[in-house]
Amino acid sequence: MKSQAELQSKLREIDHKGYKAYKVLEGEYDFGAYRLWIDHVQGDPFASPSRVRIVYRNQGNIPASYFESRHRRIAVEDYLLRSLHRFLRNGEGRAAKGSGKSGLVTACRTGQEVLETTAMHIGKDVIEARIEVGFPAFGRTIAAGELAQILFHLLPDLAQQVFKLNPRMKQDLDKVTALADDQQFIREALPARDLAAFVADGSILPRESGVSQRPMRNAVVFKSPESLAVTLDLPHRGQVRGMGIRHGITVIAGGGFHGKSTLLKALERGVYNHISGDGRELVITDESAFKLRAEEHRCIHETDISMFINNLPMKSDTTRFQTENASGSTSQAANTVEALASGSTVLLIDEDTSATNFMVRDGRMAQLVSDEKEPITPFIRKIRSLYRDLGISTILVAGSSGDYLSVADTVLQMDCYETRDVTARAKELAVELTEETVKKTDWLKKTVRTKRIEKAKVHGWDTISLDKNEIDLRYLEQIVGESQTAALAYISQYVLERLANGKKTLPQLTEEVFARLEKEGILALTPKNYGAGPAAYVRRQEILACLARYRML
Ligand code: ADP
Ligand code: MG
Repeated sequence: MKSQAELQSKLREIDHKGYKAYKVLEGEYDFGAYRLWIDHVQGDPFASPSRVRIVYRNQGNIPASYFESRHRRIAVEDYLLRSLHRFLRNGEGRAAKGSGKSGLVTACRTGQEVLETTAMHIGKDVIEARIEVGFPAFGRTIAAGELAQILFHLLPDLAQQVFKLNPRMKQDLDKVTALADDQQFIREALPARDLAAFVADGSILPRESGVSQRPMRNAVVFKSPESLAVTLDLPHRGQVRGMGIRHGITVIAGGGFHGKSTLLKALERGVYNHISGDGRELVITDESAFKLRAEEHRCIHETDISMFINNLPMKSDTTRFQTENASGSTSQAANTVEALASGSTVLLIDEDTSATNFMVRDGRMAQLVSDEKEPITPFIRKIRSLYRDLGISTILVAGSSGDYLSVADTVLQMDCYETRDVTARAKELAVELTEETVKKTDWLKKTVRTKRIEKAKVHGWDTISLDKNEIDLRYLEQIVGESQTAALAYISQYVLERLANGKKTLPQLTEEVFARLEKEGILALTPKNYGAGPAAYVRRQEILACLARYRML
């Protein structure tokens, strides 16, 4: 480990030299309260910024009781990352002048969800923060004085203000960990009460706008209908009443613009914990819940979609179906069996984003086009058996297909943003429908060969590329930020290079890599220079879905 004086003299030596000379700074430096690691220096001022790590001594600082359990640790790390952001924003934006990314100091972005990220780690000895610093330059000439400002003033200030425990921070940490305990309590209470989800009274479900995930102001707050109300005794907040959505089949009906999709969206996101003030802090959904939708044009590799699709024209084998360009119904069928193969026990579906012919087939159409001539067995004929035989619940928004009322265990009606239980009335309207059974099978048969990947990149939230081959993640609606996309890029690369061997199938590879992620954290799967940016926790559902969308598999 080198001293601060050594860093200073190196900086003096390289001042005004060509940008590449910055490389000599890589290494570890002693700053007293913390060690500074310059892990990776960018190639030029316009390249992605340099990777710097602050390893702060935590002995006698934040006590272990705040992070001894996993859910608390993730909440505390998230809190520290958000205070780091606040600190950086209170600065001047850029900490130095210059060309390209000169003086930009950033860390993994955060949204409304609380996720484990590569940016922050707390343990009993150290707090480790990974940040990105644009090393300053004028043109392509090193501006060492500007970098010295950052390394000798900004970062020491940051360490002092963000990591050193003070009374206010202690109060905040008490709140953050109390919320995390309560959320964890609800998660653990779900299975015991046979619930797929819980939505607390007082929750605010709608968002500020189509492009903002902040809560809507003056929204109608959520209140459970009496018949579905469950009261949980949370460790910190005490008794909280809310709506318990039972396992089985739940249909969310209601007129257009009455709040159906908003409730479903909140349930989709309920697989993650939310920050205080979000409005959905106490909306908790079974962690395996997966949003299914139609996704025309996706690729499908050797997937058994025969549960829904048979006798296609040209006689393609639907027990090993493959295509470079799926239709609405075949894509939704593939999405369904992928969810099952990744262990989802709750399926979330919105009629608006589904393929109609995948969802229903009405009596008159069945008369005109006989069953033998129709390749699709609609979801509605399988939905009961999915639950009865495989234990898979469905929560489905259906504003127009009344047939679903006949297969539902519970029917909710959204009425001017208020939730009513209309199960009894729906039962009166129920009619006899044809049902078929579902059997568990190896839905995904594709085995994956090893493949070397030179470059894994991300393009915004919804696309990653592995050596220029793009994977389109746009329709994975439970991805909540670019850092998850980056994680999927690293994980895909890891799977293809290190785990794939021509014998293991996609679900097996997913299990293997996910086990590693659970045990060692997302950092273990992230390359040292995290070239595609900081990464965040992802679920096995998204990992499998991402790999399955890789066209070069
Ligand atoms: P639906 O799916 O029933 O057509 P949406 O869920 O898309 O309806 O909601 C329609 C509109 O109402 C959206 O702009 C949404 O933000 C708003 N909205 C939803 N829930 C509430 C609520 N509880 N309070 C106020 N506005 C809401
Ligand atoms: Mg809708």
